[in-house]
Amino acid sequence: MSQFFDRREFIKIGSGFLASSALVSAFPYLPFSDEAQAMVADKIVPSLCELCFWRCGIDGHVKDGKLFKISGHADHPLSNGKLCPRGTGGHGLLYDPNRLRTPLIRETHQGVQRFREASWDEAITLIAKRFDQIRDNGDLDKVAYFSHGFGASFFKRLFKAYGINLASAPSYAQCRGARDEAFTLTFGHAVGSPEGLDIANSKYLVLIGSHLGENMHNTAVQDFSNAVSAGCKVIAVDPRFSVAASKAERWLPIKPGTDLALLRSWIHVLLAEELYNRKFVQENCLGLEELRAGVADATPEATYAITGIDPETILAVARDMGRFGSSALVHPGRHVAWYGDDTQRERAIAILNALLGNYRQPGGLINQTQMYGVPNPYHFASSTRASTPFQSRFPLASEAPSNEVVDQTLAGNIKSWFIYGTNLVQTLGDQESTKKALGMLDFVVAIDVLPMEITGYADVVLPEVTYLERYDDLDDRVYRRPYVAIRQPVVAPLSHLDAKPGHEIAALLAEKWGLAGLFPPIEEYLDNRLRAAGTSLKVLKDKGVLVKEDPTLFRQPGEPLHFDTPSGKIELSSARLKSLGFDSTPQYQRQPENPAGYFRLIYGRVPMHTFGRTSNNRFLGELMPENELWINRITALDLGLKDNESVFLINQEGKKSISKIRLKLTERIRPDVVYMAHGFGQNDPRLEFAYRRGASANEMITHLSVDPIMGGTGFKNNFVTFSR
Ligand code: SF4
Repeated sequence: MSQFFDRREFIKIGSGFLASSALVSAFPYLPFSDEAQAMVADKIVPSLCELCFWRCGIDGHVKDGKLFKISGHADHPLSNGKLCPRGTGGHGLLYDPNRLRTPLIRETHQGVQRFREASWDEAITLIAKRFDQIRDNGDLDKVAYFSHGFGASFFKRLFKAYGINLASAPSYAQCRGARDEAFTLTFGHAVGSPEGLDIANSKYLVLIGSHLGENMHNTAVQDFSNAVSAGCKVIAVDPRFSVAASKAERWLPIKPGTDLALLRSWIHVLLAEELYNRKFVQENCLGLEELRAGVADATPEATYAITGIDPETILAVARDMGRFGSSALVHPGRHVAWYGDDTQRERAIAILNALLGNYRQPGGLINQTQMYGVPNPYHFASSTRASTPFQSRFPLASEAPSNEVVDQTLAGNIKSWFIYGTNLVQTLGDQESTKKALGMLDFVVAIDVLPMEITGYADVVLPEVTYLERYDDLDDRVYRRPYVAIRQPVVAPLSHLDAKPGHEIAALLAEKWGLAGLFPPIEEYLDNRLRAAGTSLKVLKDKGVLVKEDPTLFRQPGEPLHFDTPSGKIELSSARLKSLGFDSTPQYQRQPENPAGYFRLIYGRVPMHTFGRTSNNRFLGELMPENELWINRITALDLGLKDNESVFLINQEGKKSISKIRLKLTERIRPDVVYMAHGFGQNDPRLEFAYRRGASANEMITHLSVDPIMGGTGFKNNFVTFSR
């Protein structure tokens, strides 16, 4: 329970603390209108998109100090001159009239909790003092830092120097973690982001619940499109006929929750019919016989009974995989936390790729190891009073799973949260636990651009400027074409908002904590880093990106391979998993069946939105203002439901959606599932555009299927029915 407040109440941030509708009228052009497209810029500023993780290179087209168009930067290897629809509408965030205007502090006035406006100095002083008290009490290990996005790097540096060790990114447990742990167990390294996959040269691409084309990671979609144009055969395994399925040679409408059974059967066939790459496996893999025994039961006939995919199709796909060999690729996916068996399912995908021998081959898996390599002449020391590193209860969690941090908060072991750019209430699933945990905390700080729901639970809210108004650190990361790119202000921060860039907020806190040297002036810092690499800030500001080539990407004939696993080989059978009491080869376990009258809820993305991060963006909202619920047409008509009718959702635990969602009756989905895009149905009225448009998938996700290996939190064992 808070030391300041008996019970932390959610506070709706009053409109006086937000920007104003004048912002939208100050920018009358829709970015996709002919009028905006015809405008001529008086300057074009290269920078980086931040509407999703991908960080494409952008060109900001500016006239009279206003950003009127965003296009893809031609030289940036992630954009290649193109952007996804979201990226082109990023200035909808810049000119959002609901942006936070000023720092806010929670107070109680006549028995009512409310926010009051504060100066930056007052807000920063309060945060610094509260954390100093926590540190003086020896409680730094009771502080958690949650973050999302590239701007988080400054706060990571700050907290390392101050002594806070518990950092948690929701994306680990909910998205990529199981995949990266599974590939590390098998190949000794993670898949990475952007993924180390040579999709563009693949001749046979198997997608398991991977929605390329709707899930719009720019370069991946470009690669997919190039592969399809070059004749790549696509297999789409999905309960729903997705955009990717529409490009596929075969659509396998699998029964949800049985993907691991199908993968095991493909492994079974590859081994039984000796279709795998024997030379590669002999030279580079360990545990073949244990794997063979482990999938002995996974015959196509037995698998048909589980998955609903007929044995002939299972056999045909396995034989095609074997035929295409090293130019075939089984895509590992990106959001892979589904049913709690996710590390094992991803292990099966890793094993299939190993059997095909596609490692570092055109069209296969790539091990991206090369960075552009900008040295960092700054050496920032860690605190000597650092908190104890977080010990996850999940043996192979290499990061702190966010829901475990919630559990630890509910158990009273964590007392303060510092939240950067992530709306945890609408992100983590099991909203009630998150809200309960928030109510128990002593101190909560939230940094955001918009009044996202999480800010209503904070003691101090700090408004950040958008990615279009600030510098961030250099983007120097491993990629198949190593590059260093810059995020720089495309326009000056909007003058009527008292918002600051993350690096400046971190510097203000550092100063209060006696760590002033931690954040040199940002341009000086970037220039010194770039000069150490033989270039300069001026060069990068002009060019936006510098690119190298990686000659080591593909394996040379006869080149010996070494893998960073305990055995130095690709581990088809994992001794590590076995020693921890888990199956050494992937085994299928049944998932819960639909309760009578309920449909399994599956969800995904749309090209014009990045979950809740963009749902208040008016420009993108013009393209898609609300979500809809896909339901099989025949099933719906049997239930008396009509196309376009709006219904409430009720899940298996009786939770009813706050807002209604429109039905889309379609043949493109199995009769036992329903599908919706997530990120809609925002429940904070200060998000004036997004407020209760469509329904929130997250709200219906009250059951989390936890992966016992690394703590991933699967969302797909939730079921809904309808009410009018
Ligand atoms: S994929 Fe789209 S939203 Fe993501 S960084 Fe690239 S342009 Fe922006």
